[in-house]
Amino acid sequence: MAAATVERDQTATPSELSPVVRAMLKRAGDAKAYARWQAQVAQTGYCSHPVRLAGTVEAADPATGELRTTYSTETEPDGTLLVACGNRRASRCPSCSETYRRDAFHLVRAGLAGGKGLPETVAAHPRVFATFTAPSFGRVHTRRARGGTVHPCHPARLGERCPHGRRLACWHKHEQDDARLGEPICPCCYDAQGQALWNAIAPELWRRTTIALRRALARELGLTNEQFAQRARVAYVKVAEYQARGAVHFHAVFRLDGRDPADPTAVLPPPDGVSVDLLERAIRMAAERARVLVPSFAGVPARAARWGPQLDLRVIRATGEDSEELSAERVAGYVAKYATKGTEGLGAALDQRIHHRAQIERLDVPEHVRELVVACWELGGRPELRGLRLRQWAHMLGFRGHFATKSRRYSTTMGALRRARVAFAKRRRARDGVPLDAWGRPEDDDQVVVVTSWVYVGSGYVTEGERWLALSAAARAREQRAVAREELRTMPAA
Ligand SMILES: [Zn+2]
Ligand SMILES: [Zn+2]
Ligand SMILES: [Zn+2]
Repeated sequence: MAAATVERDQTATPSELSPVVRAMLKRAGDAKAYARWQAQVAQTGYCSHPVRLAGTVEAADPATGELRTTYSTETEPDGTLLVACGNRRASRCPSCSETYRRDAFHLVRAGLAGGKGLPETVAAHPRVFATFTAPSFGRVHTRRARGGTVHPCHPARLGERCPHGRRLACWHKHEQDDARLGEPICPCCYDAQGQALWNAIAPELWRRTTIALRRALARELGLTNEQFAQRARVAYVKVAEYQARGAVHFHAVFRLDGRDPADPTAVLPPPDGVSVDLLERAIRMAAERARVLVPSFAGVPARAARWGPQLDLRVIRATGEDSEELSAERVAGYVAKYATKGTEGLGAALDQRIHHRAQIERLDVPEHVRELVVACWELGGRPELRGLRLRQWAHMLGFRGHFATKSRRYSTTMGALRRARVAFAKRRRARDGVPLDAWGRPEDDDQVVVVTSWVYVGSGYVTEGERWLALSAAARAREQRAVAREELRTMPAA
């Protein structure tokens, strides 16, 4: 183990050791405290930036008025408790993001295959995986691949030039990791402002699309909107993703359910006459119809924002039905992966809010991304566009929506999955599988009132040395998990 190796290697005198190694030695020096500290790190799921708290948990028995301290950080190393940061983004915290990804996977899969409180019959409901894209704001370098062949980026006639004298054609067959992907062919021709506005309006466009979808389904079934709402429901989960050009697009899973007007929680098979073709057609109509008015500003007339012409719809089949088709697992995998991403594909420097115009020049991002941040900043200063809060969301290129959202009845919630995990961890700590309260009685929420008081001490590990110890423990835990998975996989079937 790294810490022990360092400890035994006493050839260097303490003054020669780097501050990192000194901090590691200090943490690992007291074996008991170190073991407890390691246990805390493990409990955060090896979070790379945990929150440090000080405080107590007390249990009060209302029947007797007795108060018992069940936990205090006083006995903990440094008098603090480490709590996972819970960040969903892989660029911020790989461990918490991995937990989030797994939860997102189970949430999406349950909505497609059943489980977590949903009947397995949902697998037979009409289900479609859709990708909604932004319209074009100008030519950008693009990888055009179809069936294994890569085509030229933008074929155009020889000598064709834009008003700025730049060539319109690009005959490159771009590789997947080409840094030019998403870059405008002419930055001057590119409508960065239009794209920033579109990103800002995309969440509203999505909302209107879901309304238009319900109406389209009602119309196709010959029902009024009220009749449709009584009998059926569109459940969905959606995630946002940035394309290389910096425009947001959405991946969404739609499921059509039947509804019991007397029991809003029931998820029933869809009403007669509802097929996956109907759902597909209605999504197309809704995407076609939905639009949001962008207010006029500085002489630019008000215009309607709508989806781009590229709408990709794919029917989700029951697992095993046809291996070529999209299965619940594959869709859940896709959605969960996108749910842990933010703007990192566009440059890690976009991790934080922008407070001054001068900050934008210093950002370590591709030029076309900087142009979009500038567009957000400038439009954000216009009173007509105040409602879009573009300066506040300039680091998101104008997008201020949630990265992952779902309709209420799609499936379980991330909160419920988190609570289930905590309850499971608690059961594991309990005697004979029964969690006990401060009086040694089987836990009962009605019998005991739990009073917690926490003070925020700081965030992140105290020293670089401790951070290093935590990260190497995380790497070891990941390795062990991988080995365990591999053993499970290669185990002969019973
Ligand atoms: Zn974390
Ligand atoms: Zn190109
Ligand atoms: Zn141009």
